[in-house]
Amino acid sequence: MSHSLFTEASQRFNKALQYVDLSQDAIARLTYPKASLSVSIPVRMDDGTLNVYQGYRVRYDDTRGPTKGGVRFHPHVSLDEVQSLAFWMTFKCAALGLPFGGAKGGITVNPKQLSSSELERLSRGYVNAIADFIGPDVDILAPDVYTNAIIMGWMMEQYSIIRRKSVPSVVTGKPVVMGGSLGRNTATAMGAFYVMNHVLALQGRVPHKTSLAVQGFGNAGAVLAELASKAGYKVVAVSDSKGAIYAAQGLDIPSIRQFKESSRDLKAVYCKGTVCDVVEHDVITNAELLELDVDVLAPAALENQITVENADRIQARYIFELANGPTTPEADDILDEKGIQVFPDILVNAGGVTVSYFEWVQNRGGFYWTLQDVNQRLHDKMVEETNQILAIAHDSAVSHRTAAYIHALTRLGKAFNAQGLSVEY
Ligand code: NAD
Repeated sequence: MSHSLFTEASQRFNKALQYVDLSQDAIARLTYPKASLSVSIPVRMDDGTLNVYQGYRVRYDDTRGPTKGGVRFHPHVSLDEVQSLAFWMTFKCAALGLPFGGAKGGITVNPKQLSSSELERLSRGYVNAIADFIGPDVDILAPDVYTNAIIMGWMMEQYSIIRRKSVPSVVTGKPVVMGGSLGRNTATAMGAFYVMNHVLALQGRVPHKTSLAVQGFGNAGAVLAELASKAGYKVVAVSDSKGAIYAAQGLDIPSIRQFKESSRDLKAVYCKGTVCDVVEHDVITNAELLELDVDVLAPAALENQITVENADRIQARYIFELANGPTTPEADDILDEKGIQVFPDILVNAGGVTVSYFEWVQNRGGFYWTLQDVNQRLHDKMVEETNQILAIAHDSAVSHRTAAYIHALTRLGKAFNAQGLSVEY
């Protein structure tokens, strides 16, 4: 994953460079991360033994503000992967105009093998190890793969213990009772929905005449499917790691979500229970879902789903990327030739980091917003940045993806120039 993300981000960065007047100094500085930290985290296990885990934190670039990025717990985490994801975050924050640079962190661990108390000791141990490297004005943590609000709460509290004062703004994605923002858990899908709805409306499409297939029925995909279905879109197919279901007349998404949450398995809705009664459906494969004749395809599962192997068979008119890196650069060229409009991950899935920014602002101000405030500001931000990216794509006759990178690089370039010629380190 790391290699593909880094290669992809680099290829797209290089493609956008020809449209942006970026100084050689800026290019040179973006070639290397600002700082990388590797730590070992000793954890006392429940049976009394001691395990030592490897952890990392990379701050890629802080020219536009303190760095920001998630913490991943996964057996495949490596310094290389964390560095790639920190590079990617630098562009995402710049594309959205958030006053942050990019960072990422992680621990090489299979968290499913740990008890809850072991997981807590690991999370607190990680913060002990990186405490001098992070801070609300330096580097801010957030959830990522296999980390969640509970873990963010432990990390925030541990940092506060070390500093001997409450420091909620060092971590976002916390439980609401610890200073988390309302709307943070649905922010990625909500942001994607705002982008999709805005783009389709601009092109004269009405929801009830627009069909949608969603790959991945997790935090991002299931919430998008439900928002779209409530807004009148015809969600004709959804999938999870076990398979996909399809109904030309549209699926009953709220019932499927209920089933999925009670059974933890989309397969449970295939042949039994009320969903099958509500609407007829076919069982299809994930590969077939991607190639359906639909208006909109929303990949919301994994990277590298649309590749040279299947790009030619994609029939959707629009693709909105909720997953990170679902389309390979080679597939991009094929989709472009076919006239399929691809709206890229660094815009479409940036609702999560945008509401993380709102959380940081609320923590620092000590004044908390209503859910309506959060969603209204998220809507305005997503629409504003989408409009700017649409204008760049139009004016420079480039894809929306290249336009998003041009947008990000232009902001980064201006920040590098504003810093002047000095090299302070
Ligand atoms: P999640 O773990 O909640 O859900 C992932 C879903 O994808 C699950 O339903 C899983 O069964 C399904 N899946 C796994 N393999 C699949 C396959 N081969 N085919 C079809 N479905 C498959 O994860 P999430 O948080 O929803 O994240 C999904 C994607 O969105 C990831 O790429 C993630 O990086 C990206 N993303 C998520 C957020 C967020 O806030 N959740 C923010 C930015 C980007």
